[in-house]
Amino acid sequence: MSDSALFNTYASYPITLVKGKGSRLWDDQGKEYLDFMSGLAVANLGHAPDSVKDALVAQLDQLWHVSNLFGNPNKEKAARLLVDNSCADAVFFCNSGAEANEAAIKLARRYQQKVKGVNRYEIITFNQSFHGRTLATLTATGQDKVKDGFLPLPEGFRYDIPLHDIPALEAAINEHTAAIMLELVQAEGGVIPVDPGFLSEVRALCDRHGLLLIVDEIQTGMGRTGKLFAHQHYDVEPDIFTLAKGIGSGFPVGAMLAKGDVVNGFVPGAHATTFGGTPIAMAAVVATIETYLKDNVVERAAEAGEYLLAQLEAKLGKLPIVDQIRGKGLLIGILCKEPVGELVSELHRRGLLVVTAGPNVIRLLPNLLVTHEEIDTAVNQIAAVLTEKAAVNTVSS
Ligand SMILES: *Cc1c(COP(=O)(O)O)cnc(C)c1O
Repeated sequence: MSDSALFNTYASYPITLVKGKGSRLWDDQGKEYLDFMSGLAVANLGHAPDSVKDALVAQLDQLWHVSNLFGNPNKEKAARLLVDNSCADAVFFCNSGAEANEAAIKLARRYQQKVKGVNRYEIITFNQSFHGRTLATLTATGQDKVKDGFLPLPEGFRYDIPLHDIPALEAAINEHTAAIMLELVQAEGGVIPVDPGFLSEVRALCDRHGLLLIVDEIQTGMGRTGKLFAHQHYDVEPDIFTLAKGIGSGFPVGAMLAKGDVVNGFVPGAHATTFGGTPIAMAAVVATIETYLKDNVVERAAEAGEYLLAQLEAKLGKLPIVDQIRGKGLLIGILCKEPVGELVSELHRRGLLVVTAGPNVIRLLPNLLVTHEEIDTAVNQIAAVLTEKAAVNTVSS
């Protein structure tokens, strides 16, 4: 048995991080790291950004928690900022990504059943998708490994549609279908961007059949792909979209947003959560979005993403081990021809924190304010490790 009192749910890296600022992290041995994973797309403004820290400290002096039965100016302001900068008309705040997707699934069902008056409840999702770990969201997730041991799964999901396969999608739609849900870059599934033509056809199918389009922006939202929300790259608006990860700059927050008549799917008592929209969480959200607007964070992320992709193409593109470099903005995957676990560990040992996305993909998620110098450092380290690996392969084959 291990000496930890925690459930053994995470295959942890052998690093204990104790301090972070900007793009840098330090472990308990004092070793410094360049962070190209951002706590998995959470620390989008870098670690401990001053603007958010100041807002949190000020709020700690005012009020920590208030029941959702009372008014909450921070929550109103956070929602207004999100609505003013998106296609959405209303926001529901919760505490995590899975909860945001649960809220989206519930809203889609309740809108169909109570507003439209139809017996529609089924949610269609895609192979390799990832939507969370609650029972409903793991069912929606198109990966068997997250369902293993948790049978029976809740009813009302179809999660086996190949991405980019319109005939299969169309065949799955029936009189009980309520919504189609997808990520616009499948992140955990291997950093796979969705084709614009496919999304347009999905939108058209939704319109033709009376279905809602739900976009899971938990990883792709908050500027990660070079737009504030990934769907803004496309000529398509979702009916519902979800946020979490970067929205509180590290303070845990989730959000579910909807537009138009869909908003009427929720009425008093239909959905609730104790901690959703707590004054401290909302101070983090307001400061985060205000920082994005004031410092042109999204534009900077788009520029940095182009630079990162160009450098990766130039320095890694021709390496024999590299199959493809793909993604959007600062959500980039390096697809390799073999498992990358050991390569990622070697990068960690050399002081660069990156993460995998499936067995063969190295995923890069630097903060949105990453500098060209930091990108150069990271790309050079990755190139060195992949080149050395290629040399080892040649010797041993
Ligand atoms: C991380 C993630 C989730 C789950 O969010 P949690 O906060 O871990 O519950 C859902 N969907 C996507 C696309 C994610 O990246």
